[in-house]
Amino acid sequence: MSHDHTTLPVSRATADQIELAEEYGASNYHPLPVVLATGEGAWVTDVDGHRYLDALAGYSALNFGHGNPELLEAARTQLERITLTSRAFYNDQLGPFCEALAQLTGKDKVLPMNTGAEAVETALKVARRWGYQVKGVPENRATILVMDGNFHGRTTTIVSFSTDEDARSGFGPYTPGFQVVPYGDLAACRDAIDALGTVVAVLVEPIQGEGGVVVPPADFLPGLRALCDERQVLLMADEIQSGLGRTGRTFACDLVGVVPDVYILGKALGGGIVPVSAIAADRDVMDVITPGSHGSTFGGNPLAAAVGHQVVRMLSTGVWQERAARLGAVLDAELATLVGHGVLAYRCRGLWAGVDVDPALMSGRELCERLVPLGVLMKDTHGSTVRIAPPLTVTEDDVRWLVAQLRTAITG
Ligand SMILES: *Cc1c(COP(=O)(O)O)cnc(C)c1O
Repeated sequence: MSHDHTTLPVSRATADQIELAEEYGASNYHPLPVVLATGEGAWVTDVDGHRYLDALAGYSALNFGHGNPELLEAARTQLERITLTSRAFYNDQLGPFCEALAQLTGKDKVLPMNTGAEAVETALKVARRWGYQVKGVPENRATILVMDGNFHGRTTTIVSFSTDEDARSGFGPYTPGFQVVPYGDLAACRDAIDALGTVVAVLVEPIQGEGGVVVPPADFLPGLRALCDERQVLLMADEIQSGLGRTGRTFACDLVGVVPDVYILGKALGGGIVPVSAIAADRDVMDVITPGSHGSTFGGNPLAAAVGHQVVRMLSTGVWQERAARLGAVLDAELATLVGHGVLAYRCRGLWAGVDVDPALMSGRELCERLVPLGVLMKDTHGSTVRIAPPLTVTEDDVRWLVAQLRTAITG
């Protein structure tokens, strides 16, 4: 991947900030040349006072918008009370948060962590232990099926089973115990489970976000659910990006009527304020975790629990999901008008879309750069695909305006 400096003209203030970040910060990202200073709802403002529609929303971490008043209030209140206790003691925010999230997921128990990658790691550990203690797989032989094109985070174990060479290469030796299968290919999953005989879990994104908002065939997840039931394999849904309202449902799994054994949550669970992640599962699975076997200094801290609890409260009314579904239908209809006009194809579920621009016209990166002066911030995924995922606080006018800018950026 090239890291050439962009040709977009920028102000002195912007250039100074970028220079500092490039000089002293590691180059693990290639940001657009915009330096943000403030945000409100779906809109952000840069150091020069330019306003942009945030059509990325922190990869869905900002589902409820920048500076959401209810979430800020929950955070402020807790900031003044107590922010960190460690799990060596109980705190009065953790229990109520776990209860609320257990109810939202319909699961018995919740294990809170901080980042998404940690929640994925937690699920992997739970699956392995469950495999040995409950399923009876011989020690150190457990295999977890993962999907081609997956994105589950950046730890050494998680990049071990990434199929993205940029994410993986140079970070070996790789953690064993994972088998990659083609995304959406139920027969391949069945064959792998039967051939290996040691599969304890399938780890799957119900919709692949980083992959480009890739939606599997409608019968894939229901088929996987049935297959996992037949073969005594845990179905673990990574809903870190797809979950918590984004697709118009609480979970993307709800779109196809599937209930996984383990929900993996993050991003929006922290309300865009603090990192909050968790897994949720029933007792027979979660009870393999015993004191000392897993933990995190910050996981379940009272500030995180207070904010996470407020996120769950907001989702429990269904208002946000309904809004995402309603505005998502607008987004879908608007995007349909671009097909054949520089757009080859798109996939849209709720307020979440992957748009494939004709690579003969421009790359996804180039499209995102063209959108900056038009007032829209967006992120490319792979090649010529861009992802649209504004905060669920956007208005219908915002959505129509956003697609109009997209049209201008593509067709000039
Ligand atoms: C972002 C993401 C992760 C990793 O979350 P972090 O908080 O960045 O560690 C894992 N899975 C999916 C599907 C994600 O989108």
